[in-house]
Amino acid sequence: MPIDNPASRIRLTGRTLTFTGDPRDDADAYRYTEKGSILIEDGKIVWAGQAGEEPAALMAGVEHHEYGNDLILPGFVDGHLHYPQIGVIASFGTQLLDWLETYTFPEEARFADQKYAAETAKLFLDLLLSNGTTTAAVFCTVHPQSADAFFEECSARNLRMIAGKILMDRNAPDTVTDTAQSGYEDTKALIEKWHGTGRNLYAVTPRFAPTSTPEQLQVCGSLMSEFPSVYLQSHLSENTDEVRWVSDLFPEARSYQDVYARYGMLGPRSLFGHAIHMDEADLAQAAETGTKFVHCPTSNLFIGSGLFRMKETWDANVDVLLGSDVGGGTSLSPFATMKAAYEIAQFSGYSLTPEQAFWLSTTGGAEALSLGERIGRLEKGYEADLVVLDSRSTDIIRQRTDRAENLREELFALMILADERAVRATYAAGCRVHGT
Ligand SMILES: [Zn+2]
Repeated sequence: MPIDNPASRIRLTGRTLTFTGDPRDDADAYRYTEKGSILIEDGKIVWAGQAGEEPAALMAGVEHHEYGNDLILPGFVDGHLHYPQIGVIASFGTQLLDWLETYTFPEEARFADQKYAAETAKLFLDLLLSNGTTTAAVFCTVHPQSADAFFEECSARNLRMIAGKILMDRNAPDTVTDTAQSGYEDTKALIEKWHGTGRNLYAVTPRFAPTSTPEQLQVCGSLMSEFPSVYLQSHLSENTDEVRWVSDLFPEARSYQDVYARYGMLGPRSLFGHAIHMDEADLAQAAETGTKFVHCPTSNLFIGSGLFRMKETWDANVDVLLGSDVGGGTSLSPFATMKAAYEIAQFSGYSLTPEQAFWLSTTGGAEALSLGERIGRLEKGYEADLVVLDSRSTDIIRQRTDRAENLREELFALMILADERAVRATYAAGCRVHGT
């Protein structure tokens, strides 16, 4: 729940940083204000600029939150994760297909109980917000009540979240499967109930090709045509055994991604986690359809899935988001995700810059979700989803940022060394939902 109900108009002051363009084209495409000020009214930013220059008319009755030397950014975006897997994060010793069977499916079966789903959704959102993440694309379980529980909790906190009930009608235990027909009906009912209700957004969510029959994949494509403003989220080419399995199950398809293409599931609102083992034709097809890939680096390392090729994917003009992929991923912290993305890019001789990493985690992530005009910038008219970072939260970070000669060095120290202790406060729609 929101920690406080602020006055209808609030003012935050501190150092402010917002991207104004794509740092891959221009490393200086950001606006940094040493003594910045943001005025928020009814959940939206009404003015942002230099402290002391605020229009007097907007200052009447304002409640002031002073953040001094802390850094205020748009809230973080997480492009792929599973709220029901928070309980199986850090589970030992398996690769993807075993991991699903051993840890994930038994845990997900528990979400038939809406009370358990509601408790987990609360815990998950507390943790997400304490890491500064204000928007995420979230998988629920196969049970419609798991999505209801999640959206109810998001609504109580007025969060801009994307989520959906999983569709899965084969190759999994009965406790976590639906049918093509029930998957369609339940998803349609959830879309009508939640998509665009408050700040909630819906994603049609087939887990991945091996756990859906062709009939169910057809249903997913139909839902996308029936409801063109909803998202689609799934998994793609994560692990080599999985890729082989898909080619056995769908021998007619040219590649794993081609399975989704055949059922009308690619497009600018389609988000595919991982996309590690891709060929040039796949990348060209993703670029042509505007399909987004979500790079989940801590998960790929933890499950031993492979190394995503960021530079090649970008060079092919495919949009990329960053995702934590908890519970396969090992941390909800965007810093941990940025750090692992940097480390994986290093293997292919590419150094992900701190500007690129923070852009991916804020403005770039929002834009890839087609939400670039609502969230992701500290500008007038934007929804006031913000994170306040303390660049001196631990001794090791403090001694490093004290030596930093510029903003780039400070951001890099944060992405390599910081964790949730650096998140001093998180705001959603102008309401403080974490910290002080
Ligand atoms: Zn996942």
